Amino acid sequence: MDLQRTRQILGRGFSLRCPRCGTAPLFRGPFSMYPDCLSCDLRFEREQGYFVGAIYINYAVTAVTAIVGYFALDRFISISLAQQLILWSIYAVFFPLFFFRYSRSLWLTLDYMFNPEIPSDERYSRPRG
Ligand SMILES: [Zn+2]
Repeated sequence: MDLQRTRQILGRGFSLRCPRCGTAPLFRGPFSMYPDCLSCDLRFEREQGYFVGAIYINYAVTAVTAIVGYFALDRFISISLAQQLILWSIYAVFFPLFFFRYSRSLWLTLDYMFNPEIPSDERYSRPRG
């Protein structure tokens, strides 16, 4: 896969659009996805439990940003440990909610990049007819 194609697919992922066609949105609501692409019929949830990987991504991004944020505040702003714990506890509750859509989109995009669908495979496309 060439670099331009990789950038294009990642750009679609960050804009919460289908990684294959880039035209249709992934989400119909704040936390609900379309089962398939409205434009190209790419199946988003390829199997049961498919988005467990997105939970790992969400957790990793939340933990890394909270740890980096903790040390950055500790270095540049003098607030107490109790204030830090309150701040980062609140962050750890709300950031994953904000990042939910992006983690799912990123997971789908990465899977699409490294494991592109085979057009005749029924697991990846809605059955026709
Ligand atoms: Zn599509």
